[in-house]
Amino acid sequence: MKVVEVFINYKIIMAKKYNNNKGFLIIEMSLAEAVIDCGFGILCDNCNERVVGENSVYYFAALNRLFCKECTDDIIANQERYSDDIPYEVRHYNHYAKILNLPVV
Ligand SMILES: [Zn+2]
Repeated sequence: MKVVEVFINYKIIMAKKYNNNKGFLIIEMSLAEAVIDCGFGILCDNCNERVVGENSVYYFAALNRLFCKECTDDIIANQERYSDDIPYEVRHYNHYAKILNLPVV
């Protein structure tokens, strides 16, 4: 299967805020939204596994990185959300929220 066909197959509009107990600003989205709309690559920025075939991928605004679900949940569990980082986090979150037609925070 060609890469373009993979993206077309996964072109599902599904971006939404991913709620979590630490309050991190995270956007859950389809791979097509991540690659075509947001310009991300097809590797998880933490484990470097290909995210092709994942149901959804996760933009972690505080780290300005795209992760698979497993890494996202690990990072939420192991990272603290520092108040000093919040303006940076909000700026990055809103940049992609606008692209994906999500409410800004
Ligand atoms: Zn990963």
